[in-house]
Amino acid sequence: MAERLELIPELTRILGERNVLTGDDAAPYGVDFMRVYDAAPLAVVLPESTAQVAEILQAANRTGTPVVPIGGNTGLVGGTHAPGALMISLKRMNRIRAIRPEARVAIVEAGVILSDLHSAAEEHDLVFPLFFGARGSTMIGGNLSTNAGGSNVLRYGNTRALCLGLEVVLADGRVLNLMSELHKDNAGYDLKDLFIGAEGTLGVITAAVLKLHPRPRAHATAMVAARSLPAALSLLNSLQTTTGGMVEAFEFMPRSYMARLKVARPDMAPPLGHDRDVTILVELGATAPRDSEPRQDGSVPLNELLETSLAQAIADGLAQDAVIARSLDERTRMWAMREIAAEITMSRRPHVDFDVAMPLHRVAEFLDKALQRLAAVDPQAETISVGHLGDGNIHFAVWPGSDDPALAKRIKEVIDATTFDLGGSFSAEHGIGLAKLDTMSRGKDPVALEVMRTLKAALDPKGIMNPGKVVPAPVD
Ligand SMILES: Cc1cc2nc3c(=O)[nH]c(=O)nc-3n(C[C@H](O)[C@H](O)[C@H](O)COP(=O)(O)OP(=O)(O)OC[C@H]3O[C@@H](n4cnc5c(N)ncnc54)[C@H](O)[C@@H]3O)c2cc1C
Repeated sequence: MAERLELIPELTRILGERNVLTGDDAAPYGVDFMRVYDAAPLAVVLPESTAQVAEILQAANRTGTPVVPIGGNTGLVGGTHAPGALMISLKRMNRIRAIRPEARVAIVEAGVILSDLHSAAEEHDLVFPLFFGARGSTMIGGNLSTNAGGSNVLRYGNTRALCLGLEVVLADGRVLNLMSELHKDNAGYDLKDLFIGAEGTLGVITAAVLKLHPRPRAHATAMVAARSLPAALSLLNSLQTTTGGMVEAFEFMPRSYMARLKVARPDMAPPLGHDRDVTILVELGATAPRDSEPRQDGSVPLNELLETSLAQAIADGLAQDAVIARSLDERTRMWAMREIAAEITMSRRPHVDFDVAMPLHRVAEFLDKALQRLAAVDPQAETISVGHLGDGNIHFAVWPGSDDPALAKRIKEVIDATTFDLGGSFSAEHGIGLAKLDTMSRGKDPVALEVMRTLKAALDPKGIMNPGKVVPAPVD
């Protein structure tokens, strides 16, 4: 510990006094978004360049000091928990180094806030198509480190699919330059994929080359009451066919979610009411002028396409009813009803959260089985589920009937077992952090865990990078 404290003057020399925070100044960084994890870090450092990150890591590695990178601190699995550790905040590394419209790439530092990249891309009529509720504070380094998903994965893939190149500072301070702008490069192992989704356990991401896409010139958004979950999936497939793959988002809100929304936010009035079994928020995006340019009478072809497709779905018995957003304001209000989910879930404690990915045809089965098995373990439990149905991702949260930790543990085991039984993943997009570590021990292929430990030991032999996260210790 004495050696670690001696580190502070060295860090001050590297960064200047105002960029090394300790005590009360560092304390806010020690509390995670959900206020579940709360611990004092040794210090928080605020580098402004890759060279400074490299110097910091050299010093930390020499002294064996644990290091926890932190971006926007919106992670939901305790990945930034840093008791006694040195936290590296990337927030001063927030430069958009270049946007190349002709190549459709952005070269950015890790501390760029996601919505700032959205604005910068928009100036070039392009989009960085990663969207979710926390976009105003979450940072690109955090998005890459968690391989974030969000509502547009269906059309554009997750963060991994949006990344061409990466710059990473390794645990010993070496800078790994993988800042490729290439779409094809088979020169050996694709090392960047190791660091995407590694949650800071293998190095600090300092910069990235990201793909941009043409910005949709029009969106058509609707809330739809589907007959059932399987009918909703048929609706998705039929919309993809009729629109030629223009579905950008297909978000699922079951009756139970709408009931919680009614209590938590009576001011948000869903256009189809609170009592539909399956409410879907669907959004199409169009780039072609033929679909997006308003006609003389002000009508937009894309809206008509959605209207016709939904009318057909109602005639085919897939949907019961639908309301299309007629203005940007109505679209924003529809999205707000979906994006308030995290806030509603966290409004009651304790909550046991599951971020499940299912094969699309098994989502309904998962929900049925999960609810049945939960009732057997905790008849008083209430649930709140919502999801990115288009990619099979359900956020299933349980408010247990009591705050007994043994009950929470049992609930976790039962829902995890349901996930494993149906061939799902226990971490669709939020990562592992600390919260999913025990599930990782039980649910991940044992050989995969061994390979992960081998990689971790090779890249971080002293185990300083975000220790205790993602890779569970071997069971004796
Ligand atoms: C309201 C709300 C809605 C959300 N919706 C979604 C959603 O739809 N989809 C989704 O995927 N997630 C969602 N999340 C979760 C969260 O926003 C994402 O996980 C996000 O990508 C985390 O980014 P961050 O910058 O906040 O990272 P942080 O929380 O700061 O860090 C997350 C992890 O990454 C590591 N890390 C951070 N920066 C770096 C770096 N530069 N190098 C190496 N490691 C680093 C940290 O150590 C930690 O382990 C939501 C969160 C909230 C609060």
